[in-house]
Amino acid sequence: MWHSSRAILHLDMDAYFASVEQVSNPFIRGKPVIITGVGERTIVVTASYNARKYGIKTGMTVYQAKRLCPGVIRVPDNLEKYVYTTLKIREILIGFTDRVKMYSIDKFFMDLTRKIKKYNTPEDMLKEIKLRIKRETKLKCSCGLAPNKLLAKLGSNMEKPDGLVIIYPEKVMDILKKLPVDKLHGIGKSTGIRLRQMGIAKASDLGNAPPDLLKSHFGFSGHILRLMGNGIDNSKVPCYWEHRKEKSIGHYHTLPFDTLDMDLIKACILMLCLRVTTRMRDKKRSAKTVALTVRYSDFTTFSRRKTVGYFMETMQGIYNICLKILESIGELTKPVRLLGVTLSGLAEGGRQLYLLDDLEKESRLNKAISEINDKFGDFTIKPASILIMSADKRFKNN
Ligand SMILES: [Mg+2]
Repeated sequence: MWHSSRAILHLDMDAYFASVEQVSNPFIRGKPVIITGVGERTIVVTASYNARKYGIKTGMTVYQAKRLCPGVIRVPDNLEKYVYTTLKIREILIGFTDRVKMYSIDKFFMDLTRKIKKYNTPEDMLKEIKLRIKRETKLKCSCGLAPNKLLAKLGSNMEKPDGLVIIYPEKVMDILKKLPVDKLHGIGKSTGIRLRQMGIAKASDLGNAPPDLLKSHFGFSGHILRLMGNGIDNSKVPCYWEHRKEKSIGHYHTLPFDTLDMDLIKACILMLCLRVTTRMRDKKRSAKTVALTVRYSDFTTFSRRKTVGYFMETMQGIYNICLKILESIGELTKPVRLLGVTLSGLAEGGRQLYLLDDLEKESRLNKAISEINDKFGDFTIKPASILIMSADKRFKNN
């Protein structure tokens, strides 16, 4: 029986891109397959389970993968195909509940609190969900059911592939006592190392750590870290059709590796500016305030904002403000992990686009994209979330 106020499921498709390719091409089924970007300098985006047996991992170069397994089959990524399949999976899940949130192209959260009572056991429900996906897409997934999103995510990582893990509320504390702290979702390698240096090795140690100690090391994030250590996460799974009323327009991007390279940082900011400007224009808005968010490798995060005395409409104008903010921050003290650009102080109405701005935008963006691809591989320039949004009109925010 399920004795928790909430029943949250995290569902993670197994070796997603590789599995989709294997479903559509019988010749490569059961074989070591890697999905990569285009070109020689690209990286492995997904490796099939047969390829993983050779030690091939996401993020390796194609050269490294071929050295580990010379016979590995390389398939260039086809994001449109994966997006199509993701939307199909999403439809299946919506058949169970409308509390479905797509977390990334191969991951979903579901709030099954109301539905779970209709089944004899939680296992029965999860098995049915998995079976429906398997029947309609021939794909397998790993599931974690728990009282909240944080623990559900943890559960889905515990057993792979084809996993089914249920974290009962009464078992949570036992699990956190044994769990290495960096296995909590959101705690990366470097934060893990820092926590260990502070004598915090297990998740429960983090939950018991003095709040002031965490605050002095991590600022406000210290408070969240402590909640995580106690297995607490009150965030909700919204209905798939729910859209927040936007008071701001923001985009964030986690870099594939931490960097202090200013050219790359600026290129990434420029890409973010393009995205927020595009969205702002779609909504026929203009903005007075720009905020730049920087997260360092150790998760220290800060935002700086600047408000101007007029409404900005062009990407160039917004980018220039970002550069000014960057300048005012001074020297970056640690490698950067994530960047974000947010527009606020929004007003209705925007003027016609300037042709010149668009031309400039295009040439600057092309330069930025080629710089980023040189370092990170071609995959970076096609963020899946953008494709998903454009593929399905219901994802549009208005
Ligand atoms: Mg996956």
